[in-house]
Amino acid sequence: MPTESLLLEIALPVPLARDFSYRFTPDGSEAVPPVVGDLVVVPFGRRRRVIGLVVSVQPLAPGVTTVDGVALKDVAEILDPAYRLGPVRMDVARWMADYYALPLGEVAPLFHPPAPGTRARPRRSRTERAYPDLDPADIRPTPQQKLPIDRAVRLLSQREYGAILLHGVTGSGKTEVYLAVIAAALARGLGAIYLLPEIALTPQTLARIKARFGDEVAAIHSGLSAGERCRVHEGAARGEIKVVVGPRSALFAPVRELGVIVVDEEHDSSYKQDEKPRYHARHVALVRGRSCGAVVILGSATPDLETVVGAREGRFDLCSLPERQGAGLPGVQVVDMRGTTVREGFTDELLTAMASQLEAGRQSLLFYNRRGFARVMQCSDCGEAVTCPNCDIAMTLHLRPRRLLCHYCGHTQPAGQSCPDCGSNAFLPSGGGTEKVELNLLAQFPSARIMRLDHDTTRRRGSYHRILTAFANHEADILVGTQMVAKGHHFPQVGLVGVLAADDGLAMPDFRASERTFQLLTQVAGRAGRTGPGSVIFQTWRPEDPVILAAAAHDPERFLALELPVREALGYPPYRRLARIGLLGRRMAATREAAEALAEALRAQLPSRSMQILGPAPGVFERLQDRYRFQILLKGDLTRKQKSWTAQCLRELKAAYKGLDAYLDIDPVAVF
Ligand code: ADP
Ligand code: ZN
Ligand code: ZN
Repeated sequence: MPTESLLLEIALPVPLARDFSYRFTPDGSEAVPPVVGDLVVVPFGRRRRVIGLVVSVQPLAPGVTTVDGVALKDVAEILDPAYRLGPVRMDVARWMADYYALPLGEVAPLFHPPAPGTRARPRRSRTERAYPDLDPADIRPTPQQKLPIDRAVRLLSQREYGAILLHGVTGSGKTEVYLAVIAAALARGLGAIYLLPEIALTPQTLARIKARFGDEVAAIHSGLSAGERCRVHEGAARGEIKVVVGPRSALFAPVRELGVIVVDEEHDSSYKQDEKPRYHARHVALVRGRSCGAVVILGSATPDLETVVGAREGRFDLCSLPERQGAGLPGVQVVDMRGTTVREGFTDELLTAMASQLEAGRQSLLFYNRRGFARVMQCSDCGEAVTCPNCDIAMTLHLRPRRLLCHYCGHTQPAGQSCPDCGSNAFLPSGGGTEKVELNLLAQFPSARIMRLDHDTTRRRGSYHRILTAFANHEADILVGTQMVAKGHHFPQVGLVGVLAADDGLAMPDFRASERTFQLLTQVAGRAGRTGPGSVIFQTWRPEDPVILAAAAHDPERFLALELPVREALGYPPYRRLARIGLLGRRMAATREAAEALAEALRAQLPSRSMQILGPAPGVFERLQDRYRFQILLKGDLTRKQKSWTAQCLRELKAAYKGLDAYLDIDPVAVF
């Protein structure tokens, strides 16, 4: 048993770029000395207690009680070894700290479940029904599925890193490939992590995975309480749970002998964490896979352009599943909204198609990526629209209850009857949202059963899954929704998908607007005709837009041929890296001044030949949640040294400007 005191260097979750010294004093027979990678509870400041990560352990010479003149405090508690970061997860944490220019102590909370800031929520009871599908024993992989499976299994047998891009159209059998590879890993005594966007983690998906792997699988999702998260974590660390399924946070689970990491819907922007600590789970999955010799499978019907280029450059092994299992891809009709009668947002083509689905007893899915009833309340006399007092952007009218709501900060106010600017009574809703679409549908099809899936109908716990399950069980004829309806769901009875405004989103001030629109249209079109015939209608004001036409043709190559040259010419990812600095402050002038000072310092420091510095520019929404927003874009590859120099600049800036928040976002996914 140790009798000696130890000097520990500990990374703490505080925004300081250094570690902190603590002492460990053995206090009896039970004392097991801490090792590097252990998580410990330490006192911090006057009365805070925080969880820190041990990064070094040395003997402490007898009689030493201070370091650099500061009295050493004792570690309060060492967490169970189930929470220790082993060498691989420690490597990953260090890589993240370097690559994203974050203090290690701010990265460490990702690796343990009771992370500060995660609120414990009550347990959601869910009924898991058997996946209404083929018996796995009846599924023989097709030759196209066998290729990626064999490649992955070869790597597994050699315990070697390798990354596979599985580019398969919707319904082509990607999930079957993942499940086969995970089964092969389990058969070799290896574990797996299976990532999917939270929105795709439905009871159906989970039931399908559990049907294969039983008790060896556990899911992590936002409905778990802190205690339940801990149980999954401990089970994985002890080797009882061999497959962990979940959204990006599941990537950090301590799965033992990790053999495979699946990143399903790898293009999905939810893999990017857009708050502190900012990271991209797809990238980190590759790093973890490399560091422990695991196979990483990136799967999508619409891979991210960075992944596509990675495959072309030989970093990923491309395997394609160009055909659907059993059925063909649905035909897409592009309907020009100009020059036809558009009744309450519906063209005749769409109304006729919906009517025939109803008649045939099949379902329709309508996609409109705006919530609410009307986009804005606008005065027909003076033209003013009601804007949010915090954000300077138009507020959206909602009906039940009737109120105006700001979609950026959540501010609400009553929707008055007359114009607040000129007093005119010609103060009317204009534009539309899903809520209005639902009402208009009721008027068109009074006997149809209609459901709506959007942010507003899924506020209550469990309602998202309830609506999806009810629709999958054909308890409604029509489902209207925002992009929530587009993602990965399997609705066998849907014969028609209607997109009310296919060009929506193309005008977003973001260089990825075309990519996002193409992905979304492809995904939503893929919901039609999963079993039996299917058709898709894209209503649009821009019927000749090449992005819309490429999606309508289910032709990703055509889209790539359009988009990649543009990215290359403009020096955007995937050809050059991007970093973004966000600055937020309550006072406009001070925030702008700080942003300008920073841009000037960056221009002086960073080499102008390899690095382009854009800005500062005000955010597209210049003021959100009562804070003014500016951004600086850095185009080009930042070295590790340049990143840490930039991070240091931001810390100094925050110290100089009271109330200013500033952050560095490496590889941002949204730029505005
Ligand atoms: P994806 O993940 O690409 O959307 P899935 O793996 O969900 O596709 O497969 C779509 C449907 O085809 C599912 O019902 C699945 O059970 C079935 N399927 C997949 N592979 C095969 C196969 N080799 N033989 C028979 N059915 C299959
Ligand atoms: Zn007015
Ligand atoms: Zn607002």
